[in-house]
Amino acid sequence: MTKELASYKQILLDKRDELLKELGQFKEKEVSSAPKDASGENSAYSFHMADVGTDNMEREKAFFFATREGKYLTHIDQALERVEQGTYGICPDCEKPIPRDRLLAVPTATRCVPCKEKAEQR
Ligand SMILES: [Zn+2]
Repeated sequence: MTKELASYKQILLDKRDELLKELGQFKEKEVSSAPKDASGENSAYSFHMADVGTDNMEREKAFFFATREGKYLTHIDQALERVEQGTYGICPDCEKPIPRDRLLAVPTATRCVPCKEKAEQR
């Protein structure tokens, strides 16, 4: 991996962390509102609670992925995949490198600006 590609990867990973933290906040809210059991030291109980947490998490996740942030997270994952495949930063339409300025402004960009505009007009 080139140094430049590695730096884009880092930008994408940082953004991903930020979004996942937001996703984590949903989870915390859910957990703190759950009824507490004062005697809750046995593992069966905590295992049960973990299950409940997972169910809530699935719902929260479904909600989250329908939001703008959730969709952005999907785009970040796809961009990271392109980094791994070595196709990141290359416009699939004209097969030219996407300008660095554009990638820094929009790290999830798949196309260069002219090709994106052409694609949108279609
Ligand atoms: Zn292009």
